[in-house]
Amino acid sequence: LLQMFQPLSFLGVMYRQIKQSMTDVERMFTLLHSPKEVEDAPDARPLAVAGGEVKFEHVSFAYNADRPILHDLSFTIPAGKTVAAVGASGAGKSTLARLLFRFYDVNQGGIRIDGQDIRHISQDSLRAAIGVVPQDTVLFNDSIYYNIAYGRPDATRDEVIAAARAAHILNFIEILPQGWDTVVGERGLKLSGGEKQRVAIARTLLKNPVILILDEATSALDTKTEKAIQAELLEIARSRTSLIIAHRLSTVVEADEILVMDAGRIVERGRHPELLAKDGLYAHMWALQQQAEEETA
Ligand code: ATP
Repeated sequence: LLQMFQPLSFLGVMYRQIKQSMTDVERMFTLLHSPKEVEDAPDARPLAVAGGEVKFEHVSFAYNADRPILHDLSFTIPAGKTVAAVGASGAGKSTLARLLFRFYDVNQGGIRIDGQDIRHISQDSLRAAIGVVPQDTVLFNDSIYYNIAYGRPDATRDEVIAAARAAHILNFIEILPQGWDTVVGERGLKLSGGEKQRVAIARTLLKNPVILILDEATSALDTKTEKAIQAELLEIARSRTSLIIAHRLSTVVEADEILVMDAGRIVERGRHPELLAKDGLYAHMWALQQQAEEETA
């Protein structure tokens, strides 16, 4: 009996693992770099969403104990507002998003959504409340319909079409020879960076999350597409609590608060005009970016 049971139980574990890895697409997003498992607390409750206020309270974090990454960060994203994190590569911007999505637990301090510490709520309910538009969207080797409907598998066809329209990808889909049934992804039609981002936007519109994480693409899209997509992303962010991981400062001009990060610390914070007036790191980054843009133009 034992001989029979062991392989069966192994298969059970494998099945759960495969199912988990297929159902949790966000795990494949570039937000994440091989996370260790975070478990639900035994008494985990579903998140009770009110407006979607996000609070980081004295958060410190290290991926490895010998190398602290975030140092005592506190900030609030009031319900429906937008906070943007900017700073050099490696400053810890994406780490904020990984902690909010609870790929990892903080080492000190805590993160609350509408007053509830995210360590005490079920991961399913947490992740249902948060939409992620990642830097690089992972597509399944499946139809483009499936890839968009993934945002909310019980959505009606009309809702999927409406999301594609709002993400400005409907015309593209409708003129494909196989339309919505076109297989995309590694083994199907390869989409451009801009098209992939639009799939991610359509998925997120369908999911309609109260909290949004935008991890702005670093990869260059052509300027026209980039500007259009930036505008679409800001539009989605407008009505939700949003954390924007920004690589271009033009994206953050309208943010309610900008956190300027350096080596895991918030070194300046405020709105765009206030930060320019401070004439510090942000003003310097802004000047460099303006200069670079002028040179390209
Ligand atoms: P970028 O603008 O390049 O995306 P970032 O500001 O988002 O950078 P993070 O990705 O948050 O930076 O990384 C912050 C620091 O944490 C970096 O020094 C990085 O090397 C380190 N780091 C990121 N992920 C891991 C991981 N899984 N294990 C160990 N260290 C990591």
